[in-house]
Amino acid sequence: MTIKEKLKELRKKAEQCNKCALCKDRNKVVFGEGNSNLGIMFIGEAPGYWEDKKGVPFVGKAGKILDEILEKINLKREEIYITNILKCRPPNNRNPTNEEIKTCTPYLNKQIEIINPKIICCLGNFATQYILEKYNLSKEIKGTSKVHGKIFEVNNLFGKIKIMPLYHPAVATYNPNMKETLLKDFKLLKELINKEGEE
Ligand code: URA
Repeated sequence: MTIKEKLKELRKKAEQCNKCALCKDRNKVVFGEGNSNLGIMFIGEAPGYWEDKKGVPFVGKAGKILDEILEKINLKREEIYITNILKCRPPNNRNPTNEEIKTCTPYLNKQIEIINPKIICCLGNFATQYILEKYNLSKEIKGTSKVHGKIFEVNNLFGKIKIMPLYHPAVATYNPNMKETLLKDFKLLKELINKEGEE
């Protein structure tokens, strides 16, 4: 089976998921989207209002900011795969609970296994904490502020994965000054992508 076929099969399972209470109020499962062949994976937190309506990640306010920054570093959505820690929207966009993360992340883990990314970009605290813990990189890091823009490297069965935590683009909706920090970090990400392309 190709990567696309494997993801399609997994998407079908996620779309029928009723493992936690978030399935009750959801309009659409937001499974993930984009290019699953280039090895660049972005992981956000959870769908918001518009994502839940459309079934597509990062199409609301935070998505606009993400698009703006991606354009500035000349990286196209079609060149990356975007998904979230949770596939369904928590009510009123509240934070994901530990229980929800535990229940939902088998989907993310499987996506990572299928895509086998070279670069994982964690958007915000929840993705950063989950991924750094998954790869035994840190148990202490609770937020993005100390590690944003840094490159972590892990080896798995299939090779190296580079992990870069970044602030969640939504920070710029309540603190416009953060756009500069975001852009600086995304430029580092672009450098990393270019370097990986040369290897
Ligand atoms: N915020 C996220 O973390 N993910 C989305 O898909 C949208 C907003």
